[in-house]
Amino acid sequence: ERYVYRFGGGVSDGGKGDRNLLGGKGANLAEMASIGLPVPPGFTISTDMCTRYYEEGQSFPESVRAEVAAGITHIEAITAKSFGDKADPLLVSVRSGARISMPGMMDTVLNLGLNDETVLGLAAASGDERFAWDSYRRFIQMYSDVVLELDHGAFEEALEIAKEDLGVNLDTDLGAADWKTLVAKYKAIVEEQWGKPFPQDVHEQLWGAVGAVFGSWQCDRAKVYRRLNDIPASWGTAVNVQAMVFGNMGDTSATGVAFTRDPSKGDRAYYGEFLINAQGEDVVAGIRTPQYLTLAAREGAGATAPSMEEAMPAVYGELARVFDLLETHYRDMQDIEFTVQEGKLWMLQTRSGKRTAKAALKIAVDMASEGLITEEEAVARVDPSALDQLLHPTLDPKAPRDVIAKGLPASPGAASGKAVFDADTAEHHAELGEAVILVRTETSPEDIHGMHAAKGILTARGGMTSHAAVVARGMGRPCVSGVGTLAIDAKAKVFRVGSREVREGDIITIDGATGEVMIGEVATIEPELAGDFGTLMVWADKVRRLKVRANAETPKDCQTARQFGAEGVGLCRTEHMFFDAARITAVRQMILAEDEKGRRVALEKLLPEQRDDFAMIFEIMAGLPVTIRLLDPPLHEFLPHAEEEFAEVADAAGVGVEALKRRAAELHEFNPMLGHRGCRLGVTYPEIYEMQARAIFEAAIAVEKRTGAAPIPEVMVPLVATRRELELMKKLIDDTAKAVFAESGITIDYLVGTMIELPRAALKAGEIAEVGEFFSFGTNDLTQTALGVSRDDAARFLGVYVDKGIYPKDPFVSLDIEGVGELIEIAAERGRKTRPGIKLGICGEHGGDPASIAFCEKTGLDYVSASPYRVPIARLAAAQAAL
Ligand code: PEP
Ligand code: MG
Repeated sequence: ERYVYRFGGGVSDGGKGDRNLLGGKGANLAEMASIGLPVPPGFTISTDMCTRYYEEGQSFPESVRAEVAAGITHIEAITAKSFGDKADPLLVSVRSGARISMPGMMDTVLNLGLNDETVLGLAAASGDERFAWDSYRRFIQMYSDVVLELDHGAFEEALEIAKEDLGVNLDTDLGAADWKTLVAKYKAIVEEQWGKPFPQDVHEQLWGAVGAVFGSWQCDRAKVYRRLNDIPASWGTAVNVQAMVFGNMGDTSATGVAFTRDPSKGDRAYYGEFLINAQGEDVVAGIRTPQYLTLAAREGAGATAPSMEEAMPAVYGELARVFDLLETHYRDMQDIEFTVQEGKLWMLQTRSGKRTAKAALKIAVDMASEGLITEEEAVARVDPSALDQLLHPTLDPKAPRDVIAKGLPASPGAASGKAVFDADTAEHHAELGEAVILVRTETSPEDIHGMHAAKGILTARGGMTSHAAVVARGMGRPCVSGVGTLAIDAKAKVFRVGSREVREGDIITIDGATGEVMIGEVATIEPELAGDFGTLMVWADKVRRLKVRANAETPKDCQTARQFGAEGVGLCRTEHMFFDAARITAVRQMILAEDEKGRRVALEKLLPEQRDDFAMIFEIMAGLPVTIRLLDPPLHEFLPHAEEEFAEVADAAGVGVEALKRRAAELHEFNPMLGHRGCRLGVTYPEIYEMQARAIFEAAIAVEKRTGAAPIPEVMVPLVATRRELELMKKLIDDTAKAVFAESGITIDYLVGTMIELPRAALKAGEIAEVGEFFSFGTNDLTQTALGVSRDDAARFLGVYVDKGIYPKDPFVSLDIEGVGELIEIAAERGRKTRPGIKLGICGEHGGDPASIAFCEKTGLDYVSASPYRVPIARLAAAQAAL
């Protein structure tokens, strides 16, 4: 078996396709060497060796020693230097390199091969004693830090003391003798801390470094990083050993990092920094301020230190040529490390550059326009979830922030405003034109008006599909939920986090993208739906099969949804309309009525209101289907709490307050999510659904009359478990339709279907499809009921579940494809068998999640429905799923 792969000097044992074997860095070094770019010669020890290293109790097989020796010989042959040579020693760098770059792992040891003898050779051969001793002390310091894992503070302290003694500020002020003295100090520190002298045998140094790289794969930091980024431990890392080139050999030498395009805005301009007479880590370490690469960037920043374009025009020209070549070769924006040694350019790394969402969009669209990639590739390049950043105002990354707590990033965007602790106060302040953040332990449908009035929502409890999170996403309001450290005293109108206290009226800021809660106002920047965004969406729509609808119930939501390209409403939650201040009294009167007659009196008042709601939605969504769901939540959610609310309802209904309270107590449920809700309301109080159906059909007729365009209503029954339930409800709806059509003489085409949100419904989908004309998967409830995990309480323990790998991701955010997904597949298959071509959609929160959308594509659903602000994300994700 082979473990060592060479590159440089006309040899390339690997290439960019070998990322799994050679790691990203190793594969790209081999690739650059193979296309003739100047890469210092070296070799990569493969990731397979890492696996074997652990299999064999962290030791190396004999065979690999011979291979490594051959690798060193390869470098020696090309550089005409020898490893450990006292006259002109070969020095190497040793770097880790996993399949994908992993900060948190051991990274780099430079100048390996220096010892008390070779340092003299380096001084003689380079003619620069200072450089040689500086290199040696850097090596001891790095090796001690990353290989021997000694306390690096002692080394820094020794350097500081040396500078103080000499009365200088900068490393560059130290001369050869000073570095030599420091080397002696460093060696003493090593001996003291490590108990052994600093290794003088260059081969021992090399194997020490190689072992440390493989060893770092299982260090705690790397483990944490892997867990957070879903990287399997089995991948392993590779090790790259490469001839050193020196950017610190005087003023014709330099080192730098660059992007082939602007990684933050995406502009087509080289973007980078370099330092003259420095080694790689100096750029990152921030000891000296790096200079700009290009003249334009320097002028743009008003900086005076010359750019590389000015200071080293010839090398810059060559570098620019390499940038273009690499971009064309890799067909993507590259992130590059380079070194210039005495006027000669060397490439040390290239990889696809990380970029902001904005840059990703611009680069993808530009590259397609330049003909570098196809439109489809451009569509595939942009991470749909990252679009979130572009669709909401975001905090100015440059603005200072005073973060006091962190919760779940429940709904993206950022907002600042006065903290308020109840919905009415929120509304009151908003009417006065003030920005407020609604702070609640958790929210319920009663808070809707306050949530709407608020600029943002902050809750102490609740997960990613808690009421607050779902509603906030739907409204496009930023929301941070489940901030466990938040102690809210709503009565006293104050919340505390540790020793910090926020009272009503104090300004706070929330960042729904990170979950951060801050005191004070932090400046924001508005979203820019620039031309690139639209262009990419057009390309995405060309390849997409799945339709994308929106979950929307207000005219504003519907408008936003249409603007973002929604192809219909997939879920209109009618209960949200019930909470409107103008209707809540009638709603309560209806709920608290003793009998059907009492309910009908209240429903009469609600009918015209609902009709107007639906008419507005139909008009905005002209030509597109609108799925209206009949009333779903447990009735007690609408009940009054305050004394004056009871009085108001009693007044409107003409009954006593005491009788009302008794009735309210009767409605109490122990487990309301599994209680008197969904179609169970329609089964027990048919007059409620009858009123809603009437409102739908009357509205449709009115709109058809007014606009000449017939709306396309799809009436949806929630929480169905059995065929019989749907049969009863469908008859009720059909009878109502017939009656309304007869009254007006106008007929409207409509469908009656059901949500599939209970496991029983999924299993009995074959029978249910005999009645239902479409299915919409309500994956919020289906997840809750299939997993037996409450969607409103899950946040308290689901984090641990994800950490322990029980679920790969929060199943309320990204569909549990194995379990809930199987129920969906069963339902789709059985439903189609009964009713070929039955329309299938999804309207749970998962309808806006890219991984879940990919599943929907695979299962052949007809559409996904997401909150309005996620519609573009869903369009892009659906396109990628179809590619
Ligand atoms: C669902 O359960 O997935 C759904 C869309 O309905 P709701 O979130 O309103 O319960
Ligand atoms: Mg539901």
